[in-house]
Amino acid sequence: MRRSMVVANWKMYVSRASARVLLREIVDAVSEPPSCEVGVCAPYVYIPDCAEIVQGTCVLLGAQNLSDHKDGPYTGEISAAMLSEFGCRLVLVGHAERRYLYGENNLSVAARYLKAIEYGIAPILCVGETLEQREQGRTFQAIAEQLDTVISIAGIDSFTRAVVGYEPVWAIGSGQTASAEQAQEVHAFIRSQIASHSPRIAESLRILYGGSVKPKSAPELFAMPDIDGGLIGVAALNKQSFLEICNAVKV
Ligand code: PEP
Repeated sequence: MRRSMVVANWKMYVSRASARVLLREIVDAVSEPPSCEVGVCAPYVYIPDCAEIVQGTCVLLGAQNLSDHKDGPYTGEISAAMLSEFGCRLVLVGHAERRYLYGENNLSVAARYLKAIEYGIAPILCVGETLEQREQGRTFQAIAEQLDTVISIAGIDSFTRAVVGYEPVWAIGSGQTASAEQAQEVHAFIRSQIASHSPRIAESLRILYGGSVKPKSAPELFAMPDIDGGLIGVAALNKQSFLEICNAVKV
């Protein structure tokens, strides 16, 4: 049985003060051994504050990106080694906003994924189709390409230490959640792609759904057999809605 997971992606929506308050509220609410793993991907500059707040708790700290290089002359970049110094346990890799707004591609995403694996940080590999790809019937093809590049560079065994986030680009921040059936269909496809290399790894791989998840839509999504939790943007900015989503996971 896979353990469910819910991860907040705060993006650039929080101030330092509000991030501290929100994280303390989350930590207090999940101080009991939670029914699911709970993670928060914070903006880089708040990671030291957040590391202090999550210390000794079961909330996992994550970042929203990392460099595709180990170290060197890459002004403005943050490496996996730097994140691991602050106790980051998770990192988003290939979020749609990075791919489509900042030109990250399958190869550079795979390099970032590999750096996370090498430094013992669990990458949350984000994959998903654009509206155009969906309308043209190319959803599976787009996702297969995103997965295949990572598998060929990092190897299938790396997926024992990774999480996959299915985030249809058209659903992120749009208020338009994929239906539970639409999401399940793609989650099952992702699992089958991994299973074609290793049925054992596919069975234990956690695949999270992201894209306008709200407390109202979470229970139906999380009830699906291949949906193991969620990646939450806007609804994670409010303590109550984020915790309601955490409570909606399968136990
Ligand atoms: C995200 O950015 O990863 C995300 C899922 O955002 P939202 O929940 O706001 O669609």
